[in-house]
Amino acid sequence: MNSGSQIFITLTLTLIAGLSSSIVFATVHQYQIEIDEKIDQAKVTACFDGKVPEYLSIARKSARQDLVQFPHSDQGKIEIQGRYWLTEGLADNACIVYAVSLKHYHAQRSRQSAKRKNIAYLEDNSWLWLPETITEKENVQLNFKLPEWAAISAPWHLIKNSKHQFLIGSQPQEWGYTLIIGDFNVTHAQLKGGQMLNIATMKTIPDPQPIIQWLTDTGNALGNYLGQYPVKQTQLIVIPKSKGGPVPWGDVSRGNGFGIRLVVVPSKDIQLFYKDWTVTHEFSHQLLPKLDYDDSWLSEGLSSYLQYVLMAQSQIITKEKAWQKLYQGFERGEKGTPKSNREPLSETSSNRRHGGGSGRTMRIYIGAAHCIFTS
Ligand SMILES: [Zn+2]
Repeated sequence: MNSGSQIFITLTLTLIAGLSSSIVFATVHQYQIEIDEKIDQAKVTACFDGKVPEYLSIARKSARQDLVQFPHSDQGKIEIQGRYWLTEGLADNACIVYAVSLKHYHAQRSRQSAKRKNIAYLEDNSWLWLPETITEKENVQLNFKLPEWAAISAPWHLIKNSKHQFLIGSQPQEWGYTLIIGDFNVTHAQLKGGQMLNIATMKTIPDPQPIIQWLTDTGNALGNYLGQYPVKQTQLIVIPKSKGGPVPWGDVSRGNGFGIRLVVVPSKDIQLFYKDWTVTHEFSHQLLPKLDYDDSWLSEGLSSYLQYVLMAQSQIITKEKAWQKLYQGFERGEKGTPKSNREPLSETSSNRRHGGGSGRTMRIYIGAAHCIFTS
């Protein structure tokens, strides 16, 4: 399965490299973001490099409700139009100042869990207005000023040797991300190729070191297999839970960069973490760009295929076991297939949405089969 799949993966990597090749940015807009001592408020000063973008925008119209200080500038007028701010009338190099409440994220948080005290957990963006379009040669640098005691975890590209300075990625922020600010630890673990895992661990994890090592080993296993870890930086958020398997769930986000959230049960033996497939699966999602829901069979299939291949290569499971796991998956997938017709994959996806007989497992394993046949 090796050399053929390498070709397929190389093609994929080339695609990704093409999308994210290193570009020298001619224009870098500078955002200063000051977070107050209680993480209740963010004061944002956005200074534009040269010509001011026509519009600044945010994903949700309701974000306006969180504004505590409406945007203003000494260098011209800003017109607020729903979730857009019309800024084209501002002079070159103008700055805009506004302030936004983060309390909303506090209230939600404290109802959910007392353990997340002193952490603002932002799963939707209702605070950061960005240029509506950013050309290839432009970027936005976010410079945070945080309380002394606070850390930040974000999907953006952390600038080398800085603590809280980031460049936002080219993927739209509307694709969603998780931003957390507050009382937790951040470790920057370097992979063999120089890529970074920016790992946030909650302080309720008694000893995060073995978990950090496990994540680093998984990142390196993926890098070894592909010849290169697929992205320059990955944001990881590790949230503890008291019961369940070692890794009860994980998910990925792609807005402005790549982020993985993992719920772990830290009391479990670390060897069980290495045997769990979840993290390898989520890491493998970084190989493909965001796909439409109808095309998710490919993304899920590739991850489901790679999770077993990588575990076999790292000798966590035997080769036979890896094939057996894939075979069992195909069997489960086949059971979900309506025998009467030969439906195209896109219909399989929509049938699932409409409650048809074919399901998620089938789609995933068709994707995995596709990866094997491509190999
Ligand atoms: Zn997945």
